[in-house]
Amino acid sequence: MKESAAVNRVNRRDLLVGTGALTGGAILASAGFSNAASTAGARAATQLPGYDAGAGEYVLPPLPYAYDALEPSIDAQTMQLHHDIHHAGYVRGLNAALARLAEMRASGDFGLVKHWSRQAAFAGSGHFLHAVFWTNMAPAGDGGGGEPPSELADALTESFGSVEAFRNQFSAAARSVEGSGWGILAYEPVSGRMQVLQAEKHQNLGQWGVVPLLVLDVWEHAYYLNYQNRRGDYVDAFWNIVNWKNVAERLSAASS
Ligand code: MN
Repeated sequence: MKESAAVNRVNRRDLLVGTGALTGGAILASAGFSNAASTAGARAATQLPGYDAGAGEYVLPPLPYAYDALEPSIDAQTMQLHHDIHHAGYVRGLNAALARLAEMRASGDFGLVKHWSRQAAFAGSGHFLHAVFWTNMAPAGDGGGGEPPSELADALTESFGSVEAFRNQFSAAARSVEGSGWGILAYEPVSGRMQVLQAEKHQNLGQWGVVPLLVLDVWEHAYYLNYQNRRGDYVDAFWNIVNWKNVAERLSAASS
């Protein structure tokens, strides 16, 4: 089982090379914005209404659970502010940046292209990472926490040596992000393996061509109300609400 899954990933990797990037298409695809082939189950689990094709605008996807569903790991007020205010701001910022870039194309005046390109990268990466983040969590004991399902555990072991080694590296990476950013588990199509990365802000330190599978927001807005300066405690508590099923489905969709 483990071997056939690995072979499948290797066979498909060439199709995926160069089709996406951490700050762009890959996150779009992993958040369900593309029609890339995947099983119906994986597509349903990873799909988010983060884009309104009719309006041609990005939209804020609803949380897949109540604000207080992740307590005590993450408190309700933090979830409400984080989703309704912070994430919504990135959606607005991305729409605004793309509108300004369209105006530049119409006018031929690209004097501010550097500024709005940076805004598109920042707000867009913020939107896409948050859209993945919400689905990466579930209430403790009700889809959240515990151990990864066996096929995902095998894949993590293949990439990191053991599930525990992965967890240790991910926690260390998340804890040590300089300033605001993310810890990220990503699938890398070139090798068919997974990597742990950091992101500063949303868009820096990324690696082109990988697909985020599990992301942990370590901006202070994600934890400061409850944990204050204790980011490490927040990172530890995250494992109680991690939605392994969602991660497994994202890996399946990214590697097939
Ligand atoms: Mn955030």
